[in-house]
Amino acid sequence: MASLRGTVASKGIAFGHAYKLSIPDLSFEQRTITRVEEEMNRLQQAVRKAREEIKLIRQQVAKKQGEEHASIFDSHLLMLDDPYYMGTIEEIVAKERVNVESALVKVTELLISTFKQLNNLYIRERISDIQDVVDRILAHLLGKSLPNISLIQQETIIVAPDLKPSETVQIDKDYVQGFVTENGGKTSHAAIIARSMEISAIVGAKGATEKIKHGDYLIIDGINGIVIVNPCAKTIETYKKRKKLLHASSKQLTSFKNIMTKTVDHRMVDLHANINHINDVERALENGSDGIGLFRSEYLFMESSRFPTEEEQFTVYTNVLQQMYDKPVVIRTLDIGGDKQLPYYSLPKETNPFLGMRSIRFTLKEKALFLTQLRALLRASPYGDLKIMFPMIATLDELREAKTLLEQVKTDLKKEKIPFNDNIEIGIMIETPAAAFASDIFADEVDFFSIGTNDLIQYTFAIDRMNENVSHLYDPLHPAILRLMKHVLMTAERYGKWVKVCGEMASDERAIPILIGLGLTSFSMDPSAILSVRRLVNTLSQEKMKAIAKEALKRKTSKEVEQLLIEYRLIDAK
Ligand code: PEP
Ligand code: MG
Repeated sequence: MASLRGTVASKGIAFGHAYKLSIPDLSFEQRTITRVEEEMNRLQQAVRKAREEIKLIRQQVAKKQGEEHASIFDSHLLMLDDPYYMGTIEEIVAKERVNVESALVKVTELLISTFKQLNNLYIRERISDIQDVVDRILAHLLGKSLPNISLIQQETIIVAPDLKPSETVQIDKDYVQGFVTENGGKTSHAAIIARSMEISAIVGAKGATEKIKHGDYLIIDGINGIVIVNPCAKTIETYKKRKKLLHASSKQLTSFKNIMTKTVDHRMVDLHANINHINDVERALENGSDGIGLFRSEYLFMESSRFPTEEEQFTVYTNVLQQMYDKPVVIRTLDIGGDKQLPYYSLPKETNPFLGMRSIRFTLKEKALFLTQLRALLRASPYGDLKIMFPMIATLDELREAKTLLEQVKTDLKKEKIPFNDNIEIGIMIETPAAAFASDIFADEVDFFSIGTNDLIQYTFAIDRMNENVSHLYDPLHPAILRLMKHVLMTAERYGKWVKVCGEMASDERAIPILIGLGLTSFSMDPSAILSVRRLVNTLSQEKMKAIAKEALKRKTSKEVEQLLIEYRLIDAK
């Protein structure tokens, strides 16, 4: 029985066999062969296995993401059935007397280099499809298998170097109990999705892909950040009991569903939900949320196989608004880039994608896409209490340009006599230190601020939020962050604007007392955190928290801030 340590990205206890998502070594030696027929039989068998797998992946993707997304795999199947492609491989095996692996790679390289020369973006983007199919055949020829999340059909824990958000959205909760990654931080988008799916996850577990073998039995202790490999029966028993207790205590929280969030000295607090998908609205309502504080609209784009049309977006936005009835809904415009990629559009390859062409920078460049989204949003505005939010704003010019485009859409809609809310509230995310320091400059031109602490902390400390090597610097309690938060909250108050925190700090039970003390009354978080945050807020006195926050701002390190919280029994000593 061995164990590994990592960072808890999503709480809970999970059991399952390891499913390793790492790509196996597909290297091979070129061999001279004598029996062509034998080689071709090997190829046919490998192709048959690849076909079965692709069909299964197609079926799973259709079930989870729809027929349109699944149709990508039809081209994979066509390639396996292409007589010219297979015939050329056979020709090379027969003529050159080489093993089928060598012939397969040779034909594929030729095909790819022809595709590369074509001046057609669509065809060039099919190269990754070809590579995918060939790797799958090659893996079978070498007696290995290529992993794919959609192939998982038993209780499993995924073990991978890293998980992309586009991979996490394929997870089927009926089978995948949790995941363990070597890389990635607590606020990486894969971690955020794990929390929203309510599956346990541990990130930054160094050595996981080396020490854990495919099929090993694992326990994720997502309370203490431990992964136990091949536990003994007694340990399994102990964790099963713990899991039951955890379940019982989370059930008790349901009594907080229909009560108000209010400090003991009667200060009302709003708890809103962060959602990534239309299906999350139900979870938001079940957990007694006061509204949607952040709808990450980019997931709609990531889960599609092409840019969603205005009509498709309009349908989703109105649906969310109607389900939320008269409760506020903040929809953030497309925030793509960094770790969030689109399967059908290649963002520029950059050395530091988090510092590059992402978010508002992308939408201001791809104006047609942005205008379509703004039009869908404005058209949806009469269906509820919609607010539009622009992400990752760093300069006033960006905000003004975004607002000019919004005005342009309003003018068009007026001409076309299409109804919309002309007084729709507009806000920005405070995610860059530039926006935080200069929040007063923005205040006159927005209705609200929403502090995105995930990015704000990343950019303040100059640490990639995905990089576990620097994750120790990711520190919401650090005085630098607390001072920035105070500055933004005071600016909002001075200018009479409302302000929310929608990054993960909003549900960090160590930070909440201080945020309350700094005057914050609106929090947005994953729906699963709402009830426990409500329970906590309802025990705090805002007046007392003000004094504690004042004291925290004088401390020099986050350890000292933590110590202060321990002294006031707001958190337990470790
Ligand atoms: C944030 O940066 O805090 C935020 C809420 O946005 P995201 O996590 O989607 O980058
Ligand atoms: Mg962000």
